[in-house]
Amino acid sequence: MRQTPAQRPDPGFAIDASGWASGARHLVSPNQDARPPGTRIELLLIHNISLPPGEFGTGQIERLFTNRLDLDAHPYFAALRGLQVSAHFLIARNGQVTQFVGCAERAWHAGISVFEGRPRCNDFSLGIELEGTDQVAYSDVQYETLGRLARALFAAYPLRAVRGHSDVSSPRKTDPGAAFDWHRFAGALNTDPAVFAPDLLA
Ligand SMILES: [Zn+2]
Repeated sequence: MRQTPAQRPDPGFAIDASGWASGARHLVSPNQDARPPGTRIELLLIHNISLPPGEFGTGQIERLFTNRLDLDAHPYFAALRGLQVSAHFLIARNGQVTQFVGCAERAWHAGISVFEGRPRCNDFSLGIELEGTDQVAYSDVQYETLGRLARALFAAYPLRAVRGHSDVSSPRKTDPGAAFDWHRFAGALNTDPAVFAPDLLA
């Protein structure tokens, strides 16, 4: 059957049976476990992170997600002691993609969260972290890469919604913040606008 462009998997991000993407650097996080049996992957969550906050390209996000962060390396890191977190993907400022958890598994990115009345978003979501902050404009290549990666994930999984972390964990979380251009991402994803929250594209 002929596929429309929106459905054709991106050759740069072919997703294998365990949910590992070609075209991404693979760095396995121990912070993962199995999704509840029979759970469909329905939600794509967009986050931001930078470590220390507002500094980019430090390698500290990768250390945090693999439990190798030196807590003495920066005063802010003391607050992260004992934190066990991960995401499926990180998109760095230069567009490099690192994958920490196969999509078939549950990454630990959303924390306490509710989507359409349903708690524990980690169970049924994929998490993409953009290296950034709520206030600093994301890079062009981050939008390009996010669009390509999200298209590949929509082709591979029964995703039906995209939200920001702030949409499912408000007021505890504010990411991806005002700096994130939802219209630009929606244009790059090029799928049914109904996957976005109405107010996101207002
Ligand atoms: Zn987040």
